[in-house]
Amino acid sequence: MELFRSTGAYLEGHFRLTSGLHSGEYLQCALVLQHPSAAEKLGRLMAEELRKVAGPTTVAVSPAMGGLIIGHETARALGVRHIFTERDAATGKMTLRRGFGVTPDDVAVVVEDVITTGGSTRDVVEVLRAAGARVVGAGSIIDRSGGKADVGAPRVALATLHVAAYDPTECPLCRQGIPVVKPGSRPA
Ligand SMILES: [Zn+2]
Repeated sequence: MELFRSTGAYLEGHFRLTSGLHSGEYLQCALVLQHPSAAEKLGRLMAEELRKVAGPTTVAVSPAMGGLIIGHETARALGVRHIFTERDAATGKMTLRRGFGVTPDDVAVVVEDVITTGGSTRDVVEVLRAAGARVVGAGSIIDRSGGKADVGAPRVALATLHVAAYDPTECPLCRQGIPVVKPGSRPA
């Protein structure tokens, strides 16, 4: 979390999230991962955590975009290849493209930047299992679900947060009259 604070990737205040909900905390993993040395360090930590629950693996798989950098660095630390899935623009279905594939000989871990509901990771797990691979673990830098997300595989996170999000009509920060900002926009 210190790494997140020092790179401006973890903000406290009053934020309007993409979902329309308001929150007192905001996380933007890309701001940490823009620094290759930080990304490498987080990848090493992720690999250590995954080894504890998953044992030896042959491939790390990430959902694009968020999982790409941390997945790559985790794969580097594990000494395995890294591939990624993408959502079909028309159907929203998670798929392996670009000639990427797995076989029944593959033992896979799924790596993401942030888990909120676990939906993307779960979709990747299903794609890999449908192709016959064994999925032995999943990891995220941040778990925003407070540990609750179930992705259908043993899961690790480098930091677990309980991030409250409020409907604007019930937001305690709005009630206190604190101006709401949209994170990601340039500071004034
Ligand atoms: Zn609010």
